Amino acid sequence: MTSTDGVSIHPAVDHGTKPASPGFSGGVLTCHCASDPVKVRVSAQTAHNHVCGCTKCWKPEGATFSQIAVVSRDAVEVIENGDKLQVVNADAPIQRYACRVCGVHMYGRIENKDHPFYGLDFVHTELSPEDGWSAPEFAAFVSSVIETGVDPSQMDAIRARLRELGLEPYDALSPPLMDAIATHVAKRSGALAA
Ligand SMILES: [Zn+2]
Ligand SMILES: [Zn+2]
Repeated sequence: MTSTDGVSIHPAVDHGTKPASPGFSGGVLTCHCASDPVKVRVSAQTAHNHVCGCTKCWKPEGATFSQIAVVSRDAVEVIENGDKLQVVNADAPIQRYACRVCGVHMYGRIENKDHPFYGLDFVHTELSPEDGWSAPEFAAFVSSVIETGVDPSQMDAIRARLRELGLEPYDALSPPLMDAIATHVAKRSGALAA
């Protein structure tokens, strides 16, 4: 059996995940600046929360994975110090708005109306002091942590630890999200009735 001792995924899940609270209706995300932090209000519960191994999502210092969820873009509002935000890469499908002082990503937005996830913003709920956000459900883009410098020999232990935490590891997104993307593509091509 693979030992998972000492395998760290992300501080928000390493000691077990916190369940969502019924009726939870959001909170305020705050960047890591000691003064004049950027604040973003998310006025709804999130969905599809997961840990992500890709190289694009923001991770806290030392974490192997990021933790990220989606919420309707209508529920996301910059309420303080928005002048500190800048887009990390304007050419990326997801425009990630980061604090240019501390580097924390405050929200990611899709402007292409043809994108399967148009209308959803990506947020890191760990930036909010509130408990009750939707709990992480799976691990996405697990193999990609190798691209961030993780030794490939550690992958068995990382996948085993993710399963221990109830976060089924996938090397893309979860099957329901991959199916949603393929359905969107098929409806656009006419392979499925729109
Ligand atoms: Zn900041
Ligand atoms: Zn990611």
